[in-house]
Parts: sequence; structure tokens; C-alpha cells
Amino acid sequence: MKVALLGVGNAGTRIVDRLVKAETNAGREFTDGNVLALNTSTEAFKQTTAIPNERQILLGETHPAVTQRQRDSTDETDHETAESESQATTDTGLDASQFGVNADPDVGATVAKAELPEIRRALDLIDETEVAAAMVVAGLGGGTGCGVGSVLLEELQSIYECPVYVLGILPATTEPDQRARTAARGIRTVVPLADAVFPVDNEAWRHKTDQIADCYEPINDGIASRLISLFGVGEGASTTISEMRIDPADIRRTLKVGGLTSIGHATIDVEANSPSWLSRLWSLLGITDETDTGTMVDAATIKRLIRQALESQLTLPCDISSTDRTLLILSGPPETISRKGFETGRYLLEEKTETVEVLAGDELLSGATTITATVLFSNVTNVPRVKTLQQRAVSTQDTKQAAAQSTEIHGFQFQDSNEDNQGPDIEPESSQ
Ligand code: GDP
Repeated sequence: MKVALLGVGNAGTRIVDRLVKAETNAGREFTDGNVLALNTSTEAFKQTTAIPNERQILLGETHPAVTQRQRDSTDETDHETAESESQATTDTGLDASQFGVNADPDVGATVAKAELPEIRRALDLIDETEVAAAMVVAGLGGGTGCGVGSVLLEELQSIYECPVYVLGILPATTEPDQRARTAARGIRTVVPLADAVFPVDNEAWRHKTDQIADCYEPINDGIASRLISLFGVGEGASTTISEMRIDPADIRRTLKVGGLTSIGHATIDVEANSPSWLSRLWSLLGITDETDTGTMVDAATIKRLIRQALESQLTLPCDISSTDRTLLILSGPPETISRKGFETGRYLLEEKTETVEVLAGDELLSGATTITATVLFSNVTNVPRVKTLQQRAVSTQDTKQAAAQSTEIHGFQFQDSNEDNQGPDIEPESSQ
């Protein structure tokens, strides 16, 4: 399925760059070059190797809000994120373009609105007619990711006919409260606007002993492998036609219910789980051996693989029985994916997710040495991490904001600090 990727902020830029590298390495070009990176700082642009320069758009370079913020934080009067993250920045005397919006989503949104003509020009580089969906990729706890990302999302929804999804990073618990507050607002803003939201939980994915920034690379690798297994399905040159193949309509249909999604993923080595040599010989000759016990073994192996995917580290830890729709994709060499295995796996999914809305299909890859199970859970509503994030956001607000109202969106209780904060019009969070 062709998808345009629009990275926003440092996280968005790095993840899109990683995805472009990964799709090339995997030979499954699902973006077809339809990528953009928008940032208010040059930090992540310096680290990119796969996004062409003309597709890296620096916003807010001369915007007064950006330079004003820089002066404010040099006075060390700013909020805790500025203290914990920008001290080195001011000490090293970086200019405004390297500094960005200083983790403030209101500044991010202001800059994005002021620079909408520049954003629209950049969007001309994306061929919407070529893609089946667009995806905004951003750190929801970031000033640029949340602020610019929300404005961009609204703009895309107004001009694109295709669905617009969001891949949003949730901050780790070790990150400053400001990040949690921004991400809580970010989720509340993007869930009703996006066709579906794919949160990725830095907390669940980080190595507990490391600083969060040291974990970005492995987390981004994990994101890349999952998105390629999902959106890259059918985009490989070595794909053979199968009557059960997954097509873009299956993915879009699964995501159509909106809300939060999560992805499970597991891979096994074919050699270690291969059927008997006789079965392979029959298969090479194009003969199906009904009595072959190898098929039975395959069925058990595939069921085990699907179970592993269900129990794997999900992009967003959640109670999978709270999902609305589920999609299963099995990718691997044709002779290993048996129909029987498929059916047992599908039954297992129906049982575990307590839903009959399970779509399943395969992707036959000749010459592959592994079988991969990718499971997409759409509109999951029991997500403890989102609740914890919202609670942290509320508990670290000032007393005036703590008199917050609660809003029900897609089954979640969202605590909002600002009555006016609907949609991407992010209002000043606090008057401290
Ligand atoms: P922004 O540029 O202002 O949007 O802010 P950042 O992208 O630097 O940070 C926003 C959030 O994204 C924070 O919670 C960061 O920990 C997280 N983040 C930043 N870069 C990466 C990355 O490359 N990978 C992951 N997984 N998270 C990141």
C-alpha cells in the first residue's frame, strides 16, 4: 500500500529517514519517494541520510516567536523542559534555527499557521494521486511534533481525499512533565482529527537502564520493521500472487474505525521450522500432498508464530480484547504458509481478541528465509499508558488547570486543561 510519510520535528524526521532506508533495504518501496520532513530546528536534519535535502523544510527561521523563546530561555525563566533539555543548547550558543520552538506546542502551532504557504508549497512535492494514505509522523510530546503536527494534520485532512493517519511517539516516564502534558494534549487533538492514530510508547520500548535518547535508534528500527510489514505488504518484487493476498483495501478497512491502533509482530526462521524434504519436493513439483504430516507441523508452527505476535512487544501496550477490528498478515515463502495454519491462527485471533472482525491474508515471498506474522489491532480502547499519561498531565498542572473538564473520545476519558483547546487551535497551556 502506497503511503506518503510526513515527518514533523526531530522524532518525525529521524523516523521517516529510518523508514526510507528500511524500505529500500527490504526492497518494499511503499512511499515511492513521497516523503517530507518539517522541522523548526536543524538538529535532526543533520542526521538524515535518506530524505533528499529539498524535502527537508525548515520552518520558523525568522518567526519572532522562535527567536523570542530563545531569549526567554537564555534568561532561564522558562519551563522545566527548557531547563532540562536546552541548557546545553543555550550554553553552546546555537542560533534560532537550531533551537526550534523550545518544546512549546503553542509556539509550534503559531509558527505552522504563519508558514502555511510554505507548508503548502512543500506539500506540492507529494503526489497524492499515487498514494492510498498519508501519515504524519511526530513525537506527540514535542513542541514541533505536537504543534506543527496538529496544524499539518488539519491541513492534510482539508485537502487530501485519502485517509490521513498519525504515528505519534508517547514520551517515556523519565522525560519531563512538560512532555507528558504536551503528549496528553497531542493525543486529545489528533484522535478526533486523524483517520487512525498509531501511538508508539517510548516507555515500553526503552531499555530501562539507558537515557531515552540512547534508545531512539532501536525503537526507530522496531517501528520501521512493523510499518514495512504492514504497509510494505505486496510492494516487494518477489511477491507471488496468492488468492488470500492482502490488499490496501483490507488495511484501510481495518483502520476505518479510527481511534488508537497497536501492532504486534513476530518472525521465525523457515529452516528451523521447515516441512519434510518430501513435502518440499512435492511442492516444487506443484503437487499438494494431502497426507503430508509436514503441513500439520506447519499449522502448529504458524499458530505458535501468531501467538508470539500477540504476546510480542506491541507498539502500544494495550488489552487486545478491547480492539474493534483485527488484521493478520502472514509473509513468507509460498510452501510454508499452509491454509490450515492460517485457519488455526485466525481462530486463535478471534478467541484472544474476542471479535469476529478478523481479516487475514498472506504475502507470498519466493526465496524468503523467514515467516513473519503482523497483527494490527484497530481502535483499542483499554490502554493503561494513555490513562497514566493523562493522569500525569493533570497532576502536574497548576491548581487552576486541575479544575479540568473531562471529555470522552473513542472510549477514553481525556482530562483537558483548557476549554478552548479543541482541535489544532492549541491555546496557551498555562499562565504561570
Ligand atoms: P520536537 O522536535 O519539538 O517535536 O521534539 P522531539 O521530536 O525532539 O521530541 C518529542 C518527543 O519525541 C520526546 O518525547 C522525545 O523523547 C521523542 N523522540 C525524539 N526523537 C525521537 C526518536 O528518534 N525516536 C523516538 N522513538 N522518539 C523520539
